[in-house]
Amino acid sequence: MPETILKIKTFGASSLRKKTRPVEKITEYHRDVLSKMARLMYESAGIGLAASQVGINQAMVVVDMGTGLYKLVNPRLIKKEGQQINVEGCLSVPDICIKVKRAKRVKVCAEDENGCPLTIDAEDLLACVLQHEIDHLNGKLIIDYASLLERARIGRRLTALKKKSKNEELPEPKTESCQLQL
Ligand code: ZN
Repeated sequence: MPETILKIKTFGASSLRKKTRPVEKITEYHRDVLSKMARLMYESAGIGLAASQVGINQAMVVVDMGTGLYKLVNPRLIKKEGQQINVEGCLSVPDICIKVKRAKRVKVCAEDENGCPLTIDAEDLLACVLQHEIDHLNGKLIIDYASLLERARIGRRLTALKKKSKNEELPEPKTESCQLQL
């Protein structure tokens, strides 16, 4: 198998806006990608990472909030309840934090890296992270939740990121950093 080096794609990259394809048969390739995604997530000090963030159009995510690593294939939200609001960051939209309203409790069904079905009943932060990563698989980003006021605040930063992803030289205005990096 050729050595694939994964890199995090940032805003402007087309993979971030594509709905990922479901994985039909989990193979060594998928297990390899999941391990590399986990390594990249740890190196980036993130607590979640979706395959679309590394330019791979397949429904896979990794999550680790310090309580153990989840490698999820084809994760889907089965149930949502309640409401929570967190300030979220995203490794693919660096230096931007957005207040996002999500369900407080969720049930997620997925397969593990060996194809065994698993169900996660999550609440609070884990529920938030799972919803953030499943959003990625659907081509959705935290900036889509921004209020008009927030949009005005982050507009210049987004333009800069987009130009950077197209390899145009531009100084990087750093604006903010937040704790939740997903
Ligand atoms: Zn993210």
